[in-house]
Amino acid sequence: MNDTDPYRMLIDGKWVDGSTGERFDSLDPYRQKPWASIPQASDSDVDHAVRSARAAFETTWRKTNGGERARLMLRLADLIEAEAPRLARLETTDNGKVIRETTRQMGFAARNYRFLAGQADKLYGQTIPLDNADLFDFTLHEPAGVAALLVAWNSPIQLLTNKLAPALAAGCTVVIKPSEHASVTTLELARLAEEAGYPPGVINVVTGDGRVGAALTAHDDLDLISFTGGQRTGRLVARAAADNLVAVALELGGKSPNIVFADADLDAAIPGALAGIFGAAGQTCIAGSRLLVERPVYEEVLQQLGERTAAIRLGDPLDPDTEMGPVANQLQYDTILDYIAAAKADGARLLTGGGPADDPDLPTGYFVQPTVFADVTGDMKVASEEVFGPVLAVMPFDGEEEAIRIANSTQYGLASGLWTRSLSRAMRVAREIRAGTVWINTYRTNAAQAPFGGYKKSGFGRERGLDSLHDYLRVKNVMADLSEDVGDPFAMRV
Ligand code: NAP
Repeated sequence: MNDTDPYRMLIDGKWVDGSTGERFDSLDPYRQKPWASIPQASDSDVDHAVRSARAAFETTWRKTNGGERARLMLRLADLIEAEAPRLARLETTDNGKVIRETTRQMGFAARNYRFLAGQADKLYGQTIPLDNADLFDFTLHEPAGVAALLVAWNSPIQLLTNKLAPALAAGCTVVIKPSEHASVTTLELARLAEEAGYPPGVINVVTGDGRVGAALTAHDDLDLISFTGGQRTGRLVARAAADNLVAVALELGGKSPNIVFADADLDAAIPGALAGIFGAAGQTCIAGSRLLVERPVYEEVLQQLGERTAAIRLGDPLDPDTEMGPVANQLQYDTILDYIAAAKADGARLLTGGGPADDPDLPTGYFVQPTVFADVTGDMKVASEEVFGPVLAVMPFDGEEEAIRIANSTQYGLASGLWTRSLSRAMRVAREIRAGTVWINTYRTNAAQAPFGGYKKSGFGRERGLDSLHDYLRVKNVMADLSEDVGDPFAMRV
C-alpha cells in the first residue's frame, strides 16, 4: 500500500473493500482537496470483523503468553519509529495538524507500546491469605476479550495507541473504528502490525462514517468498548453498551482551566497559555481554553498574550516552521466560527483574532485566526462549552478560592493547569481541582507512564500508564480447599 493506492480495511488478516463496494474520499484540510480513498464498511463487514476478533481471541490469542505479546509490541514500536516521518506526513495531510506535532506524536506512540510491552509479561495476580487457613486463594489477571476501539480525528495514532497498547499488552483482540475524517494512519498502523507479526483477527480495522461506529458499538459479542470523542456520541455509545451489558470507557471533551496566579513566572506562564490553547489549533481535548488570571497581573498578561497570539505563524501544516495549521474539516470550521460569533454577541471583549484568517498567502485551507477574548464571564457560552478550536476565554479572579470555584464551574473535568512560584499553593489548589490531570508550571505535557482521563462529564476510564491496563483485564479469583473436608453443605463456608 502506498499513499496513492485506494485504501482497504483489515478484517481477519485480509485487506478488503467494503462488501457494498461503497467508498468515500478523505479530505486534505489545507488544500481542501480529496487525497485518499477509503472503504465504507457495511453492517456485515462490522459483524465479520467482530467475529474474526472473537475467533482469534478464543482459539489462540488469549493463550499467547505475555513474553510473546511483549515481543510483538516491541517490534511494532520499532516499525512505528522507522516509519515515523512518513506516518507524520500522512497524518498531517489527513487532519491538518502541524508536522512538528505529528512527528512528536509518532515518537510518543512508539514509547507507549514499549512502556506497556514491559508490562505484558508482568500481569501478576496475588496470593491472598484468608481467615480460614485450609483455603488457598489467588487471583489471575486475564484479558477481557474482544474490544471495540473508537477514536476521534484530532490525533488518530496517539488516541488509538492509548487504547491499542493496553489492549494488546493485556491479550485482548480488537476491532478499530477510526474517524471518517482521518482514517489513513490507522490503516497504515494496521499494516505495520501485520508486518510485526500479529496473527490474523487480532487487529481488525473497519472504516467509514458514524454508521459504522453505531453498528460496532451495538454488536452483541463485544466484551468492552473504549471510545474517544464528543459527549453527544459518547451518550449513544454508553447506551449501546448498556443494551448489551458491555463494559465501556469514555474519553470525552473538556473546558480546561489554566490558572495564572500573580506570583507566577510570566515568562513561562504566557507560553504555557499559548501552548494550552493554540497547540494543534485548539483541537485537543485537553485544550486550556479558559485562562484564569489573578487580578494584579491581568492587564499585563492580556497585553503579552495579545502580542504573542497575533504573531503566531499560520501556514502549510507540512512546513516545519508553521505553528498553527488549518482546522480539520468544514464542520469544525463552521462550529468554531459560530462560537466566535456567540462570544461577540455575549459581550466578551475581543483582544485579537476573531474570524477566518484573511491572509492572501493562505488561498486554501480551513484557517481560523488564533482568537483571544478577555473579560469573559461564567454565563457566556465561550466560558462553559467546548469550542475545540483556537479560541481562548480569559477571565480575571481574586484569590485562590475564587480561582478554584471558577475552575470547577463547568460540567467538564479533563485537564487543568496552574502557574505559581508557591509550592504549597500549587499543592493546595491541585487537590481542589476536579480534573483527571493537573499540570503545575507546565501545560500539555504527556508521558507514557502518567495516567490520563476524565472526572465529571469528561468521561471515565484511564488511558496511558499502568492504570490503562485495568479496562482490558478481568480479575479471576481461584479458591482451593486443601482440607478435603466438605463440611456442612447447608451452611456457607468461610
Ligand atoms: P465524535 O463525533 O464523537 O466521533 C468520535 C468517533 O465516534 C468517530 O470515530 C466517529 O466517527 C464515531 N461515531 C460517530 N457517530 C457514532 C455513533 N452513532 N456510534 C458510535 N460511534 C460513532 O467526535 P468528534 O466530536 O469529532 O471529536 C471531538 C471530540 O472528541 C471533542 O469533544 C474532544 O474533546 C474529544 N476528544 C477527547 C479526547 C480524550 O482523550 N478525552 C481526545 C480527543 C478528542 P466519524 O468521525 O466517522 O463520524
